[in-house]
Amino acid sequence: MNAARESAVRIAVLFPDLLGTYGDGGNAIVLARRLAWRDIDVDIVTVAAGEAVPDSCDLYLVGGGEDGPQVQAAGELAASRALHRAVDSGATVLAICAGMQILGHRFPDAHGNDQSGLGLLDCDTIRVDRPRAVGELLTGDVTILAPDGHPFDIGILTGFENHAGRTVPGAGARTFGRVEIGEGNGDGTEGVITGRIIGTYLHGPALARNPRLADLLLAWATGVDSLAPLDDSEIDLLRADRVLAARKHELAPRRSWRDILRGS
Ligand code: GLN
Repeated sequence: MNAARESAVRIAVLFPDLLGTYGDGGNAIVLARRLAWRDIDVDIVTVAAGEAVPDSCDLYLVGGGEDGPQVQAAGELAASRALHRAVDSGATVLAICAGMQILGHRFPDAHGNDQSGLGLLDCDTIRVDRPRAVGELLTGDVTILAPDGHPFDIGILTGFENHAGRTVPGAGARTFGRVEIGEGNGDGTEGVITGRIIGTYLHGPALARNPRLADLLLAWATGVDSLAPLDDSEIDLLRADRVLAARKHELAPRRSWRDILRGS
């Protein structure tokens, strides 16, 4: 038990039965292990569709999924407003792909019609006349500023993406910065950050491939500037392998000339 905390860190995994298509449930396992390795107690709260969403957790995980289940998840979260209350109280959120889309202002359903999002992330997701974005996704070096201005050096972000929608960050939103390989948001940037809510197109699961992003979320959720370092040498080897594979386009389709000329 961490002397600084009297209670376990509570992590809510929202609707894995609706938003568990891409293995993002692994993010909860990564966070739980990184807390346990530091002797910090953790309580994973799994919330299935139709169940009440708690509004008192420290960290919320919303995964990726298909268009239909995504609409249902957005409807339940809009009706209860539990996630809005949690964010108002300072909770940290990681929202992956469909999760990011539903936390924004609007997103397309399976018929291409606009659905209202939760308005927690400053972005709009739209359908475009372009192929689905499928393949490895790699960013440049990322530094994220906490709401209080504290900078976190996250390094290159690596993962894979699989989405039809493209996301337009709002004027007030920050992003992870430039995409090196893949599509990301679709405008050459990846991710959307509003306050302590991080949205991203990275599957992988994202936190298994990007441990510094995991520690950023844990620092925000536990209210500290930084956590005790862990030995991530094995993960660094995995990261180097994935970065090389993406750069050699072993796993990612090469961008079309049309996309390169459009600068997207
Ligand atoms: N259904 C959404 C899209 O295709 C999100 C997909 C996902 O979560 N991977 O854009």
